[in-house]
Amino acid sequence: MVHPHEALFSERAANIKQSAVRDVFEISMQPGLVSLAGGNPYLQSLPLERLGAVAADIITNHGLQALQYGGGQGTLELRRQICEVMAAEGITDADPDNVVITAGSQSAQDIAAKVFCNPGDVILIEDPTYVGALNAFEAYQVDVQPVRVDEDGLVPAELLRRIEELRAAGKTVKMLYTIPNFSNPSGVTLAADRRPEIVRICREANILVLEDNPYGLLKFDGELQLPLRAGNPDDVLYLGSFSKIFAPGLRIGWALVPAHLKQRFYLASEAVTLCPPPFNQMLVSAYLRDFDWMAQVRTYRALYQDRCDAMLSALAEHMPAGVSWTTPAGGFFIWLTLPASVDTYPLLHQGIDAGVVFVPGAAFTSAPGPSNTLRLAFSSATPENIREGVRRLAPVLRAAVGR
Ligand code: PMP
Repeated sequence: MVHPHEALFSERAANIKQSAVRDVFEISMQPGLVSLAGGNPYLQSLPLERLGAVAADIITNHGLQALQYGGGQGTLELRRQICEVMAAEGITDADPDNVVITAGSQSAQDIAAKVFCNPGDVILIEDPTYVGALNAFEAYQVDVQPVRVDEDGLVPAELLRRIEELRAAGKTVKMLYTIPNFSNPSGVTLAADRRPEIVRICREANILVLEDNPYGLLKFDGELQLPLRAGNPDDVLYLGSFSKIFAPGLRIGWALVPAHLKQRFYLASEAVTLCPPPFNQMLVSAYLRDFDWMAQVRTYRALYQDRCDAMLSALAEHMPAGVSWTTPAGGFFIWLTLPASVDTYPLLHQGIDAGVVFVPGAAFTSAPGPSNTLRLAFSSATPENIREGVRRLAPVLRAAVGR
């Protein structure tokens, strides 16, 4: 029987759903399974003992500050350090005054939708895109509309076409949400020559770019990609995070907000959390100040590259004809595409029976209906387990493809 309290839910709450990815994470905890589902960072290489000593020092010697309420925008020390982290990726004009520290970049996505979108307003997304952003946006009754991507990311002409088409249909398009580097879930990177064009199209259409860049520093080799925000302080609301380069459990991310938008964004953040956690901010500050955090980033790059290579070579060895996949330049994920007739959702259970877990592609799109895609994560399993997982997956996909 439906409880009468069901009638009390807001219309908004009807859009709040359990993410398919969460279901899969729970399944993937079962012993004996190789999980290529969750994109957890590999934390075993962190200097835990030294960090423990720093944490104890913070409580012992700065406890009254660490355990007290703090400023709603975050500590000035950490906001300054965040500007240095962003400078490592080419954002050299960031002002700590325009940085708002948030509970992971996840909460910044929620705040962005809350501050800018009325029900029915459009946020343009890459298709596929990050499931957490879809959930955050849909909770504000945003009309999430896909823009086609190819192997070089968002297609500028397609972006323009979608803006014109949606406006002709009477829609209000507010934002473009983009993950330009090694996207979750696709692993695709937006080509350098498309970046200024994307920003220009959005500027001319008065659409805010919401750039989500948690993986940018984890490029395997070569020069880092210049963020869309670099050189465009007024057009781009930039999101960063310590989750992939340090520790997701601390829940410390940030937004670099155009100066003219900062006040509203910051007040909305304060209304949700009062302040980001002072103790966690102090731990991140100490990590950036007293540890060689860039050396740790380099360790991660080599580690993830090794795992990505293991996955790519196993795919090349075992996958049947008709299955294709992306070749990421960094990050955590590879995206597989099967023939259009295959629905990957039922394959999840066949995969589990074969001892391997992945995430069906339908989780990462706003489009209803079946999807012929799936996501594999190479961040948390060892290279041996990755090879074993792909070996187990191959017969399941071969049977589905019919070869
Ligand atoms: N954006 C993307 C693209 C992500 O993949 C994730 C985490 N998986 C997040 C944002 C959320 O990160 P955070 O831990 O900073 O909330």
